[in-house]
Amino acid sequence: MILKKTTLLVLIFLFIFNACTKKPKEEQAPLRIVQVPPFNADSAYFFVEKQVKFGPRVPNTKPHQQAANYFINKFKKYGATVIVQDFDAITWDNQKVQLKNIIASYNPDAKKRILLAAHWDTRPYADKDTAKKDAPFDGANDGASGVGVLLEISRLLGQGKMPSVGVDLILFDGEDWGKDSSTGQESKIQMPEGYEEWWCIGSQYWAKHKHIKNYIAYYGILLDMVGAKHAQFFREGASLEFAPSVVEKVWNTASRLGYTDYFVKTNVAGIIDDHLYVNEFGKIPTIDIVHYQTGVGFFGDYHHSRKDNLSLISKETLSAVGATLMNVLYYEE
Ligand SMILES: [Zn+2]
Repeated sequence: MILKKTTLLVLIFLFIFNACTKKPKEEQAPLRIVQVPPFNADSAYFFVEKQVKFGPRVPNTKPHQQAANYFINKFKKYGATVIVQDFDAITWDNQKVQLKNIIASYNPDAKKRILLAAHWDTRPYADKDTAKKDAPFDGANDGASGVGVLLEISRLLGQGKMPSVGVDLILFDGEDWGKDSSTGQESKIQMPEGYEEWWCIGSQYWAKHKHIKNYIAYYGILLDMVGAKHAQFFREGASLEFAPSVVEKVWNTASRLGYTDYFVKTNVAGIIDDHLYVNEFGKIPTIDIVHYQTGVGFFGDYHHSRKDNLSLISKETLSAVGATLMNVLYYEE
C-alpha cells in the first residue's frame, strides 16, 4: 500500500512538474538541422568568366549560340532534365531575333517545386556608357552573374544529395533588348500581341507558354546583377507585392547565415524585370534579388555600360547569394 501510494505521489508530482515546465509547441520542436552542400564561389566565378570569354551574348550572334550550347551541355552533364524553348521575337527596333529559354529540372516528379531564374542574354549596346553608347559590353554582372550562380547550384544538385523539393532552373533569353535610352527614340512598330513590354521578352513568352503544360511552382526567385563587389540587395517593391513571405524567407535565411551586409531589410520601389511576368502572367509568386546601389538606385553605376566587366565581380558576393539560395532550397520541406 505504501509503495503504491508513494508511486502515485511520484506520478502526480511528475505530472504537475511536467505540466508546469512544458514549453509552447513551437519551441519544443527540435531544431531541424539540414546538411546543405557548400556553395563553391570559385566555381561560380569560373562560370561567370566563361560566359564573358564567349563575348557579349547578344541574340543572333555567335557568342549567344555558343553560350546556349555550353549551358545545355553543362545542365545535362550535371544530371538535369533539360528543355529548350526556341522561339522568334521582334525587338523594339524591329530586329527579328531567335531566342532560347533553357530550363533544367531536378526531381522532375516532385509536386512541390521551387523555380530559380536569371537572364542569360546581354544587352546589344552600352547606352548608359559615358563615351561609347553603341558599343557592346561584357555583361559580367548583368546576366552572367545570375547564370553563374545557377550553374553552380546545378553542379551541386548533380552531385546526388537532393533537397526534398523539385528544382527548376530557368535561363530566360531576350531580357535586355529594351529601348535605347541614349537616343530617346520611340519604337516605330507595334508591340506584338501577348507582350506588354520590350524588355523581358523571354520571361513573357515563357509565362504564357510554359515548358510543361500547367506547370506551377510553389514560388520563384529571380537573380539579376548578383555579383558586384559589396553589392546590396534591398527588398524590391513587386517582390513584396506578389510574394512577401518569400522575401521574408530569403532575407531571414541570409541573416541566419550572417549576410546582413548584402541582404538589407529595407523596402524600395518595384521594377520591371523577369519576375514581374512570372507573377503576372505565370501566376507563380516570385521575387527578385537585384542590386540596388545607395546613392545611385537600381542597379549600380556600371549598369548598361562598359564598366560591367569581370573587374566588378566578387566571389564573396556570389557566395552570399549562392549559399542563401542553397539553404532556402534544402530547408524547404
Ligand atoms: Zn540589363
